[in-house]
Formats: sequence, structure tokens, C-alpha cells
Amino acid sequence: MPVLGYVLIQTAPGTSAELVRSRRIRGVKMANSVFGRFDAVIVISAKDMDEFNKIMYEVVERHPNVVHTETLLAIPYPDTREPVRPPPETTSTVVSFHCPSCHSLVERGSAFCNFCGLRFQ
Ligand SMILES: [Zn+2]
Repeated sequence: MPVLGYVLIQTAPGTSAELVRSRRIRGVKMANSVFGRFDAVIVISAKDMDEFNKIMYEVVERHPNVVHTETLLAIPYPDTREPVRPPPETTSTVVSFHCPSCHSLVERGSAFCNFCGLRFQ
């Protein structure tokens, strides 16, 4: 199950820019310094909770200037998109065989050979 998390971070004063550089890390969708109760917001997208925790560690936990974090996990919602249908068949398959008399290719179901005129049963 994919995991999307909004990580709200309080840092030591003036150090949020260091965290924002973590936007280069794979799985970090966004990283911004912000005004308000927190200093930075990082959006992490991972294929599962395991990967999410690894990214969290890389981005946040080993960072010495992080004072406090609050992680908001997005609630998964059912996929309501229409299932993708294959495009309609644009080519048809013609099954053919070799005429026993002249060896020309003849479409199966033909009553006679178009080339030599041999009648088929
Ligand atoms: Zn024939």
C-alpha cells in the first residue's frame, strides 16, 4: 500500500534550509521552508511504510537541527478511476492454408482456390 506523508518539522532557528535540500532525495516530493508553527514541510511518497520510514530517517531523523516533527499520513482512498480498457481490435486475423494443388495461400472457409480453381470439401 503506497504511503503519502506530510512531515511538519520544527528546526533550530535558521536551519530549515538545510532540510529543504533533502528534496533531492528519492521519495521526497516537496520540501519547503514555511512560516507558522513549523519551519519546514516535507512531502514524502513511498511504496510502503518500510520505505517511508527509511526516507524519514534519511531526511529528518539523522538531522541534528530538527527539534520536533509531526507526521501526517494521508488516508488512502479507493481508486475510483475507470479501469483502462484495451483499444478495440483494429486488425483481424485471417487463418489461411495452402491449396493442396497450387500451394497458394487460401483463406480458411473458401469454397474454392482463387488461383487454380480447385474446389474444397
Ligand atoms: Zn490452388
